[in-house]
Amino acid sequence: MGSMGFDLHVHTTASDGKLRAEEVIQLAIDLGLEGLAITDHDTINAINPALHFISRRRISLELVPGIELNTEAGDNEIHILGYYLDHNNKSLLLKLRELKESRDERAFKIVSRLEEIGLPLDLERVKEHAQGEVVGRPHIADAMIEEGYVRTREEAFEKYLDHGRPAYVSRYKFPPREAIELIKGCGGLAVLAHPGLIDDPTVVAEVIAMGVDGLEVYYPQHSDEQTSYYRLLAEEKGLLITGGSDFHGPNEGNKLGTVRIDRSLITAMQKRLPSR
Ligand code: AMP
Ligand code: ZN
Ligand code: FE
Ligand code: FE
Repeated sequence: MGSMGFDLHVHTTASDGKLRAEEVIQLAIDLGLEGLAITDHDTINAINPALHFISRRRISLELVPGIELNTEAGDNEIHILGYYLDHNNKSLLLKLRELKESRDERAFKIVSRLEEIGLPLDLERVKEHAQGEVVGRPHIADAMIEEGYVRTREEAFEKYLDHGRPAYVSRYKFPPREAIELIKGCGGLAVLAHPGLIDDPTVVAEVIAMGVDGLEVYYPQHSDEQTSYYRLLAEEKGLLITGGSDFHGPNEGNKLGTVRIDRSLITAMQKRLPSR
């Protein structure tokens, strides 16, 4: 690990992060990071503002354009990270609009479910927490906190929103294979996010066989054993090794820069990019 390093897994207010792209970049500079990837759930809306902010202020921080696509395979939630994708690609933007609409429908269903179990919420308030962008369960959690139903996002997930809990609503069908193809189709690299959070090892093998370019080996919730295991697996399969903090905000779990990967891994990613 380098001393400055790159954090390749960061959320902003474009999805369920608490800081705007500009604020995240300022924080990254303050923490001495060399670079970061903004990887919002199902949206690239923070990428252009981030690039403009960096060029306007002549900031030397290196921004890797990214995304985290939330997919589902059977009962498993699979997150596919995309790096260096053309974030202005028309078919990408079309698909993201579709995903946004199905997220709106899902939020409506979850709010109805909560109402049925005696926890009414104002859907408009949920949307306000999402700031007009991609709505996720964390925004529903925020509205629940405001009503005093729970104290934290974690508690909201554990009691109500997680798979198997009373207000869980399954996701629209977006299989990992499609996410991988979408990312590669716009010139990006597809990386399996936090494989250690997937309970079933055969699912990990299946997703690798779908043609991902890399594995997110370094992740705060990975044990040392998981980290070594996935590093070895990546080497065996000729896959890229990435890592990131999954930062969502100063008071939301993992801190920015808790995972810092070396520039040599960034160079390896760039070498693997298809020539445009
Ligand atoms: P959604 O995008 O609506 O499916 O919500 C999934 C997102 O919620 C994940 O990508 C995380 O950012 C967040 N999340 C998942 N589990 C938890 C948890 N236990 N506590 C807080 N946030 C969570
Ligand atoms: Zn998130
Ligand atoms: Fe994730
Ligand atoms: Fe994430």
